[in-house]
Amino acid sequence: MTTLLHNALYLLPDCGAWERGDILLSDGRIAAAGAVPEGTEADETVDASGKLVIPGFINAHAHSYTGYLKGSVDCEPLDIYMLHAIAGGSFRSPREIYVSTMIEALEMLKGGTTAVVDHFSERPGLTPEGLRAAAEAFEHLGMRANIATMFADRDFLDTIPLLPGELPAEFRGARGGMAQSPEEYASVVEQAYLEARGRGDLVRITLGTDGPQRCTDKLLELTGELERKYRMGWQTHALEAKTQAIFARNQYGVGLVEHMHELGLLNDRLSLVHAVWLSEREMALCAGHGVNIVHCPGSNLHLGSGIAPLTRFCELGINVALGSDGGNCGGVAMPEQLRLAARLHRLTTPDYGKWLTAADVLRMDYAGGARVLMRATTGRISVGADADLVLLDISNVLWQPEGSLSCQLVYGESGANVNTVFVAGRKVLAGGRSTLVNEEELCAEAAEIAARLRRDAAPRFEAAARQAPYLRRMYLREMERTWPEKRLGYQM
Ligand SMILES: [Zn+2]
Repeated sequence: MTTLLHNALYLLPDCGAWERGDILLSDGRIAAAGAVPEGTEADETVDASGKLVIPGFINAHAHSYTGYLKGSVDCEPLDIYMLHAIAGGSFRSPREIYVSTMIEALEMLKGGTTAVVDHFSERPGLTPEGLRAAAEAFEHLGMRANIATMFADRDFLDTIPLLPGELPAEFRGARGGMAQSPEEYASVVEQAYLEARGRGDLVRITLGTDGPQRCTDKLLELTGELERKYRMGWQTHALEAKTQAIFARNQYGVGLVEHMHELGLLNDRLSLVHAVWLSEREMALCAGHGVNIVHCPGSNLHLGSGIAPLTRFCELGINVALGSDGGNCGGVAMPEQLRLAARLHRLTTPDYGKWLTAADVLRMDYAGGARVLMRATTGRISVGADADLVLLDISNVLWQPEGSLSCQLVYGESGANVNTVFVAGRKVLAGGRSTLVNEEELCAEAAEIAARLRRDAAPRFEAAARQAPYLRRMYLREMERTWPEKRLGYQM
């Protein structure tokens, strides 16, 4: 299948300059950009006049399980959020996982995202059927994805800095743990990895852990072994909240990332998500080992987790990508994440020479994201790159009159002007609608499932509501604790 985009105004790989010309898509790749050989015949020609052509955005951290949890989180910090995420995100059938994944993925696609790391959660245990359902959702929608299998083998309530006896004993046994051993988890992941590899490259299975502090060392070491065996990549949440930094220091006597270093787990196939509370020493370790960081500014603001030291990451040469986190706490539209990444950190230094430009955050999303996905041919418009392209309609008043296109893209676009999307050369969105799934039927089924899951989860939400006051007390106490890193507006 070949497609010719005629008269396209497209973004060059440096993300600051634009060029007008034709783009030829062939066999899933960009075969020509700018000057297409005279007399080139294509199966389809698309008139790209009045449109901008950009590489599809890369969302380097999302959670497909939050597809049913939209609008469920307001004014609660991570530790309280976790109670609700566990209560609402457990006990789903493969079909329910499929529909949730598709809802979240379709929303991303409509906002111009063509590749994602889905930090995949299945509670109480990871199953081959659940992973297959998520993979099929991405395949049926035509979206590129790395499914990173989020896992932990310690109960959440055992991994926050509660004082002895602070949580009543009645909550023991209902603490949101995983009903699976590290060996079972590793076996499921390995099987799913090999199965997905046999089906092509659009969807990959990679390793993931929830947060290292929620994993036994045995699980971390087993994950590291499996990762080294296939070099498949590993994503984990890390030091998102101050309470995690405190817990890790209590638990290990050193910082969380220092502990991972002691276990020999730091390398350039690892991505740490959030990394708000990293110490200077931990940032140096990341820089020294090529560890990637996924910055999720929307989620960090929504949950009051703090402002990640993004400027410092950049100074140290750490590869940074951008992510949305769950749709219930970050908002999956990537233009907003780019905008926040550019603007938020201007409050952290008066040296505006260090402020990130629109082109900087575009490169962060595209080149930084491609490294996290370990897909070197994704995220740019050049010959040989993946044909993952978005056509934005700029003929309307939201884009007129034209100024700096990179600035307008980052500071003005919401994703609402996404018109046509190609992934691996296949047209998966046309006129803003999926070409491959029936959106109305999908939304109707998702609404029916979400209502049923809410009913089924009611007892778990009631238990979470009883636990929440104890966690609130812990949270308010620990947030007052003097701590070397300052990441909160009221402590700066
Ligand atoms: Zn997350």
